Amino acid sequence: MRHSIIPVFIPHQGCPHRCVFCDQRTITGVDRPPGGAEVAALIGERLAEPRRAATWEIAFYGGSFTCLPAAWQEELLAPAKAALDRGQINAIRLSTRPDAIDRETLARLAAFGVSTVELGAQSLDDRVLAAAARGHTAGHTAAAVAAIKDAGLKCGLQLMPGLPGEDWISLIATTKQVLALAPDFIRIYPAVVLAGTELAAMAAAGAYRPLTLGAAVARAAYLKNRCENNGIPAIRVGLQASEELSGGAVLAGPYHPAFGAMTEAYLFRIMVAGLLEKIGRPPGEMLIRHHPRDASVVRGISNANLLYWEKTYRLAGCRLAADWPRRGEIAVFHRNLTYILNKAMLFST
Ligand code: SF4
Repeated sequence: MRHSIIPVFIPHQGCPHRCVFCDQRTITGVDRPPGGAEVAALIGERLAEPRRAATWEIAFYGGSFTCLPAAWQEELLAPAKAALDRGQINAIRLSTRPDAIDRETLARLAAFGVSTVELGAQSLDDRVLAAAARGHTAGHTAAAVAAIKDAGLKCGLQLMPGLPGEDWISLIATTKQVLALAPDFIRIYPAVVLAGTELAAMAAAGAYRPLTLGAAVARAAYLKNRCENNGIPAIRVGLQASEELSGGAVLAGPYHPAFGAMTEAYLFRIMVAGLLEKIGRPPGEMLIRHHPRDASVVRGISNANLLYWEKTYRLAGCRLAADWPRRGEIAVFHRNLTYILNKAMLFST
């Protein structure tokens, strides 16, 4: 039995802004706003599916939910609350902007049974937020996280490495602030250039250069690893693959359907590379024992990690054995020595 999400997309509705990267219609694949009756029908359809879930959660994504007029928020939430009260679903979550959270709003959300609020924080660098025309500051995000926690709700932060003006120094500072805010979870969506956005115009004019796939993977991996090592799970890394995103809506930038797996593979790549740097560049063979469920990310997409280690460090060969008991950890056997490495050892700052 599994946890199932019933997603309700609210494209651009309620949002008074137009961030440079945003085309909610493309990201969500929806351009018509729903009403309460549609939400009720959607819940009914999903609950009637023969494949049962252990737990159900309704999620209002896209747009900025709490920027909608209060009556519209209540219309959308009412069928979700009714299903919650009947015991048909287990939770309600929604996403919104950091500057669209106040006490009155949180009281409304709590009254309608909302248990999780996700904030589109994107960055905690005011310079980057201004360049992305977000219309809010890092201070708004900090205040919103505190208010959501005070209201007894769970809080998630959505972060977007690679926005205009962001560099490693900015990302590291953002990461430190995220750790200090201690959200319940994060999602990482690297910035990509979507057709019809201001970012597309900036890229065409040479005023913005998106991250390469490799650079985006490195930044996302850092952010994810630092958060997870501090007890903040990254519940999503990379945009959800969709026909629109794969079919030409992404003009440039680090979109890849396997971005999350690439990020995880990168962490294993640098774990072993760091060890090989320390012990020199000896020829010979190496054996890596890993957990069976880490097999693909230890190996890397199309064996990219194996090839990288062999070529860069002139190893005669690298064998893998899927028999290590702990996920996220590997045992490297090299020249009669054993090294235990895990993701908690990476990125102390
Ligand atoms: S606040 Fe959200 S919905 Fe509004 S323009 Fe920005 S990213 Fe898009």
